[in-house]
Amino acid sequence: MILEMLTVGPFQENCYVIGDEDSGVGVVVDPGDEAARISLAVEQTGLEIEKILLTHAHIDHIGAVATLVQEYSCPVLAHHETGPMLQQAPTQAMMMGMRFGRVPNLDGHIEDEEVIEVGALRLKSLYTPGHAPGHLAFYIEDEGLVLSGDALFSGSVGRVDLPGGSMEVLMRSIGERLLTLPDETRVYSGHGPRTTIGEERAHNPFLMGGGLV
Ligand SMILES: [Zn+2]
Ligand SMILES: [Zn+2]
Repeated sequence: MILEMLTVGPFQENCYVIGDEDSGVGVVVDPGDEAARISLAVEQTGLEIEKILLTHAHIDHIGAVATLVQEYSCPVLAHHETGPMLQQAPTQAMMMGMRFGRVPNLDGHIEDEEVIEVGALRLKSLYTPGHAPGHLAFYIEDEGLVLSGDALFSGSVGRVDLPGGSMEVLMRSIGERLLTLPDETRVYSGHGPRTTIGEERAHNPFLMGGGLV
């Protein structure tokens, strides 16, 4: 497996380039900003990008989507509940004093527990709302890793004060869909460093006392 993490843009968002070495195909997950840097990283992997996957539609995760779609002519896939928030990208940006360029289209929807095949790699979607509507994590069981988006971070959890956010829903998502993965599962988040499920189960202060651990 090829896995490249790029931290991009003013929100220091983690974009991931993931692919299967043998078949030479890959996906870009959450291209938030700095399209040129992402495309250079893709070029260095030699992967042919088949899809762009979104964990959710906050602007820090989607800023480079439209540019990369032009480059790769590939579909953009996310959970259907992300649609309205994607359309509101210019408003999201304005509220932060920023400008958003062209709003990308969603070309297809990913349901809960859908398996997305990337060559021999199998990414299973885990519906994990609470931080944002339609939030998905992507679990690659064979590699023992999960892309947790903005649901779970090293030592923290996603904020819930943005539209559609709910701490109760987020805690349920984390407890039922992420903490149920094996302890050794490596967690690659939307922001911040890598961690593991076991580490977060043991030490994440947001998960203590909620009956989750
Ligand atoms: Zn977010
Ligand atoms: Zn984010």
